[in-house]
Amino acid sequence: MRNMITNIDNIIDFIKGSNDFVVTSHISPDGDNIGSTLGIYYALQKLGKNVYYVLDDNAPLNLRFLVDKVNRLSSADFNILNIDKYNLIALDCGDKSRVCVSEEIKNNAKKIICIDHHASNDAYGDLNYIDADASSTSELVYNLLSRLNERENISIINEEIATALYTGLVTDTGNFSYSSTHPSSFEMAKELLSLGARKDEIIQRVFQSNSYNYYKLLGEALNTLEIIDTKIACINLTIDMLQRNNMSFNDVDGVTTYTRDIDGVEVGILLKEKKENEVKVSLRSKNYVNVSKIAQGFNGGGHIRAAGCTIYDTVENAKKKILEAVLKEI
Ligand code: 5GP
Ligand code: MN
Repeated sequence: MRNMITNIDNIIDFIKGSNDFVVTSHISPDGDNIGSTLGIYYALQKLGKNVYYVLDDNAPLNLRFLVDKVNRLSSADFNILNIDKYNLIALDCGDKSRVCVSEEIKNNAKKIICIDHHASNDAYGDLNYIDADASSTSELVYNLLSRLNERENISIINEEIATALYTGLVTDTGNFSYSSTHPSSFEMAKELLSLGARKDEIIQRVFQSNSYNYYKLLGEALNTLEIIDTKIACINLTIDMLQRNNMSFNDVDGVTTYTRDIDGVEVGILLKEKKENEVKVSLRSKNYVNVSKIAQGFNGGGHIRAAGCTIYDTVENAKKKILEAVLKEI
């Protein structure tokens, strides 16, 4: 993939010339997924378009404060509406198979517009705006809306849009700490705060609202921590642990960070059991290992420093397989 495909003006022209849109993102929603999608959703509404937010996975508990304000539909809900002509805007999703709507909704879209920052994105849209160096897809949506403002001499970003995009920015940059945080990310933050982004609410809801059960689960998961060859750290999280602590699969984002945050560790691995013989693998690196490349070896993808894949095997075997691949890159 080219590092950057900038099609902002073509996308703006296309949006101006069309009326019906479905906006969506990737499976297992996170802050950038929801922030970038809601940013576009509210903007399209303000432009007078018909816009449907379709996403089949439930939002994690700490992001419900954003999603519960809008009418999120499942693919089945959308089908009942019998909308036959629409364009699909897929945000923050590097891979068409991970777009979280039914195949039917993908196939029946007149055009697919892809806005994303994953290094592994193969530009599957009819129109693509992809920048693998961007901090977040929310930053790309911010650029798009800023360009729209400039072209039309309007002020499209209101408090709701600013709050959604700020959420995507802080979650995908790990509160402005990851290497993908650039001067432009701080400029965007400054601008969004001046437009009314509810920073304190975001920080409290997203980072300071974990449940007691979450910490009990985290304790169990941390007990499985293993350091391999001093540079690799691995944690397992099984279905049993989730059930014992009454937590669901999508509500335990953030555990992977504990692996990379260990002194001397280059690659952190979280093995999260989704079903029997289905293990979601999260990979993080600190300085030099390209984890997106490792994940792509298992049909996954992501960014250079944060990526993921699914291995269809037991947790024990998945661990062996991923360790073998990581050890080659260390
Ligand atoms: P996480 O480990 O937090 O689930 O994901 C890290 C990054 O890798 C995210 O940007 C996520 O979208 C991407 N990612 C995770 N799993 C997969 C996967 O199976 N396929 C692809 N293409 N990307 C993934
Ligand atoms: Mn993202």
